[in-house]
Amino acid sequence: MSELARLAPLFLVVATALYVTCMLAIQRPDGGGEVAWLDLWFHNGVRVAAGVVALIGASRSGFDRPGWWVVGSALSVNAVANIVWVQLFDSAALSLADPLFLAYYPQMYVAVIILARRRAASRGAGQWLDGAVAGLGVAAVVAAFVFPTLLSGASGSALAIAVNISYPLADLLLVAVLLAGLAPVGWRPDRALAVLIGGLLVTTVADVAYLLQSAAETYTAGSLANHFWIMGYVITALAGWLSPRQVQPRAALSLGSGLLLPAASATTAVVLLVIGTRQAVLGVAVALAALTLSAAGLRVGFAFAELKSLTLSRLEARTDELTRLPNRRAFLELVERSVETLRDGRTFSVLLIDLDGFKEVNDTLGHHAGDSLLAALAGVLQDHLRSTDHVARLGGDEFAVILCDTELIEAEQRAHSLRDALAAPVDVASMAISVGASIGVSNAPDHGADTHSLMRFADIAMYRAKQARSGVQVYEQLSDASNRDRLELAQDIRRAFARDEIIVYYQPKIDLVAGQVVGTEALARWNHPTRGLLYPDAFLPLVEQADLLQKLTRTVLNSAVRQLADWQADGIDWTVAVNIAPPDLLDESLPDFVAHLLARNHVLASQLVLEITEGSLVADPIRAARTVRRLRDAGTQISLDDFGVGFSSLVHLRTLQFDEIKLDRTLAADLEHDERGRAIVGAAVGLATALGMRLVVEGIETMAGRDAVAALGARFIQGFVYCRPLPPADLEAWAQMLSGSQICTVSSSPPEATRPSGNEASPYTVPS
Ligand code: C2E
Ligand code: MG
Ligand code: MG
Repeated sequence: MSELARLAPLFLVVATALYVTCMLAIQRPDGGGEVAWLDLWFHNGVRVAAGVVALIGASRSGFDRPGWWVVGSALSVNAVANIVWVQLFDSAALSLADPLFLAYYPQMYVAVIILARRRAASRGAGQWLDGAVAGLGVAAVVAAFVFPTLLSGASGSALAIAVNISYPLADLLLVAVLLAGLAPVGWRPDRALAVLIGGLLVTTVADVAYLLQSAAETYTAGSLANHFWIMGYVITALAGWLSPRQVQPRAALSLGSGLLLPAASATTAVVLLVIGTRQAVLGVAVALAALTLSAAGLRVGFAFAELKSLTLSRLEARTDELTRLPNRRAFLELVERSVETLRDGRTFSVLLIDLDGFKEVNDTLGHHAGDSLLAALAGVLQDHLRSTDHVARLGGDEFAVILCDTELIEAEQRAHSLRDALAAPVDVASMAISVGASIGVSNAPDHGADTHSLMRFADIAMYRAKQARSGVQVYEQLSDASNRDRLELAQDIRRAFARDEIIVYYQPKIDLVAGQVVGTEALARWNHPTRGLLYPDAFLPLVEQADLLQKLTRTVLNSAVRQLADWQADGIDWTVAVNIAPPDLLDESLPDFVAHLLARNHVLASQLVLEITEGSLVADPIRAARTVRRLRDAGTQISLDDFGVGFSSLVHLRTLQFDEIKLDRTLAADLEHDERGRAIVGAAVGLATALGMRLVVEGIETMAGRDAVAALGARFIQGFVYCRPLPPADLEAWAQMLSGSQICTVSSSPPEATRPSGNEASPYTVPS
């Protein structure tokens, strides 16, 4: 746009100021002669300029352009009308210029509606009705009070009166329409619209002044009405220049404040109708008041509908879509409310429940099955709670419960029974699926008396439960510091892999008959740069949470197979066992990865033992079994780890072929003093023998324990009694030392009857 065009508004303002000042200064009471001539040209010049300036303004206004074009057109037509009126009809009270003048209004209505619509954030019927109520109300008041005044002041022919009255009325209606259009923007006009309203009001004043002056036959070309016309049109023309380049649609005001104006309008209409019963009020005014009330009635109907949907969406915002339980937001509010009851001496407990193994269900059976499981478990939780308790789904596989009026001890007991209830198999995708849960418990007021602390403490406790695999854990203050540790470690774990901080230690498996190391188990360690060596219990849960279990398996497999190759090169023929995590068995690429690794390192598949736990077989037994079979078919040995705890089911032994069973260390602890424990180990030995598998007893810490196990016929053990997990070089040194001693050989060899089938030959290849 040229510099000159940019100065157009300034030019218009200066010209207007000059015109008004001139006219006021030199105006003669008779209004004739030179002044009238000056007024004629100057006045029309400024009016034409207003139209032109408005059009230039429209062309530079971006998104508002259509509206301001129409305003510019209305002002231009109006300026032409004035020239025609003054030049051809000598300012007659009624002339053929009037249709041209009146053409200004339809254009302005259209412009005002376009401008208002562009600003409306939502064009709900309710908001437009607000506008209609307000606009009709104003119109009713005008009709009742302004119209009669105008009418009483008007004189001349009926047509002249009607035409001249129609100007101020059309002006007022225009303001009312603009007002109505502002309802959807919460009655808050931006600068451009505010100035436009100002311009329209000044024009209205001019039209009223003209009506009164012409009725009194005091109107002259240079009189007051002319000044107001000029100012009204100029202000209207300038409004477009203030139009914002872009308008952020504004939300309507809240239901309450947004209804203020329509409510006031409706009240005025009622007052008007009441007045109408006492004194004469124009029929038009009564009709408009009645219309206002009808629109207000409709508005109330809409308000109810809006309120209903608002209530519904508030409810939705607090409801978990999948389970229809309260969501996190609602739960926090419930805790907040429970906190308030503490003042009355009441207590309550917060339980945070995180499902174990849910991810596997989701990954293997699909999200649909996962969703069904969550919905079913939500039902289980609801069935096991009292009506005064609350349960919510916080997101993912996390639920939360408030147990009202519950002391800590009772809360812990109930957490256990909830956990048992959750562990019961659930029918999903025509399968019976069961997942475990870890539950953290915090209590108010024992642990805290505010929502944030109670939630945090329950979360810490839940994490501890997961870490210790204890199922249920009550918050202990001491664990707070360790929670900080957890957060720090969680940030470090990803980097640990990239920086090769995950290393592998090896713990020997001993053949008690041969008195030799026959194999080793690869156990992951985190060589943390500042915290030193960390054990799996400190980082496995973090690995799991970061979804890095498969990465861990592959890292350890890599090291272990390379170590196997090294030992093989040194003539050491130990096997190496690697722990395989549950998600690995659902990973169909694992067998290929293992085969590739073995081939690359020139290691026999039978030297590698993969230890799986029964938990891995639960989520998707078919897929897991398929992976196990593929691995076994490729020649790797499969060991069933931690046998006897967790998801133990003899079915797995029946359907899948294992090379080894590792009896969990909890079953082997303190055997020398525990007759029932010995009976179990004895039975496990018999079972393994009958199924042609070797049994490794884990966690033997004392010589007495070792002897007890040996006496029961167990041949292979892994335990601190001989050796803790060590770095490979240390293990080799230890084994060297061992081969010169007799400490591995049991004093009494296992009874014949319970010896593994295959007699003397160890299923491991014992170094010669
Ligand atoms: P696990 O597979 O049952 O490994 C045996 C665990 O028992 C090892 O603990 C070992 O140090 C410990 N242990 C052996 N003998 C005794 C004993 O006489 N007394 C006692 N108290 N403990 C004994 P570690 O290394 O802390 O590993 C714990 C668990 O972490 C492992 O149990 C295994 O489930 C898991 N884990 C370790 N490394 C890996 C890995 O690379 N990948 C995966 N997925 N899990 C791993
Ligand atoms: Mg193991
Ligand atoms: Mg084990």
